[in-house]
Amino acid sequence: MKITSIDVFLVTIGQPSVKGSPWNPVVVRINTDEGISGYGEVGLAYGDTKEAPFGMCRDFAKLIIGWDPMNNEAIWQRLHNTFWGLGGGPVVYGAMSAIDNALWDIKGKAFNAPVWKLLGGKTNPKLRAYASQIQFDWGMTAKALIYPEEYGEAGIKAKEDGYDCVKVDPLCFNMEGRYKGWPCNGILQKFQLDMAYKRVEAIRKACGDDMDIIIEVHSLTDANSAVQLGNALEDLNIYYYEEPTMPMNEGNMAEIASRVNIPLASGERIYTRWGYRPFFENHSLHVIQPDLGNCGGITEGKKICDMARTYDIGVQIHVCGGPQSTAAALQLEAVIPNFLIHEHHQAALLQANIDTGIYDYQPVNGYFTVPDLPGLGQELSQKAMDTAIKVTVK
Ligand code: MG
Repeated sequence: MKITSIDVFLVTIGQPSVKGSPWNPVVVRINTDEGISGYGEVGLAYGDTKEAPFGMCRDFAKLIIGWDPMNNEAIWQRLHNTFWGLGGGPVVYGAMSAIDNALWDIKGKAFNAPVWKLLGGKTNPKLRAYASQIQFDWGMTAKALIYPEEYGEAGIKAKEDGYDCVKVDPLCFNMEGRYKGWPCNGILQKFQLDMAYKRVEAIRKACGDDMDIIIEVHSLTDANSAVQLGNALEDLNIYYYEEPTMPMNEGNMAEIASRVNIPLASGERIYTRWGYRPFFENHSLHVIQPDLGNCGGITEGKKICDMARTYDIGVQIHVCGGPQSTAAALQLEAVIPNFLIHEHHQAALLQANIDTGIYDYQPVNGYFTVPDLPGLGQELSQKAMDTAIKVTVK
């Protein structure tokens, strides 16, 4: 089998959770001489980054036309060994990841098997999921939540949907509902600390003691303010504490781990085994959150997760993109023994985002099952492709 062409799509019909924030998944479709095509998404649908990964996918596509798509390891090495591949970053590794996941989709379709079967089979028949980012509310519409009672109500909505775990960023919105609208590094003001506590306390009181609550701070805090917040929230029995400081600073992460009595999580902005290694070696993380759309794809993600297992670290794949990213995550999560929980983002409930895929995977009573379709089990919808900005490399 040979790669004959690669289409790169910049999807334009997606919808963000935060109004005004762009939401544009970049997806590659790798086409072959045997008529099989595979889809893979870059894990940068959000965060004001779209032209760069679109261009990076185009650059990398030129390097692998004519290659056998079954040789995903050789293709991964080819792309990693480009000059900037060795230094990495989200754009380079995002494009590598999208290509890698598309190759797995092809491999699965060629063998008429779901990718989970090719990766080692099913260890986890049911995948526990949590309702992610409920500061955007929970349901078919999104808005900024400000007051503690609104947080409690969002938690109840998730509980009524069958979830027994939610994630919230209690510092995401200031009292005007502005995203990242107040400084959170250095030393938090007492008012901020009190408001963050009341927001989480409202979820705990509304949802009861059995609800697991993940705290997320999107690296808005630094080592000082993260320790303040972590210690303040400790008595609310927090499941784990995500991105309490800059994502690439293993020294600060270790300091927080030594001063806060809550498990720490990070990973959506850590790339490849080389990026994770210092966090493993200093034992600062208890949960890793690699994004299969930017950590190096399924090929690299499997290695990262297996390496984490030797350090007794659990895995929650980071999922914050379109339907292709959900499908890729489910395939690997079904296989790995250190799988902890699946992230189901508020944006995955929004119809415009659902409409970019041909299948809609949603959990039932808080649990996903992995698709049995050949490959990854997801493709871009015709509507998404027809309205996308597109380039084809031959
Ligand atoms: Mg996060």
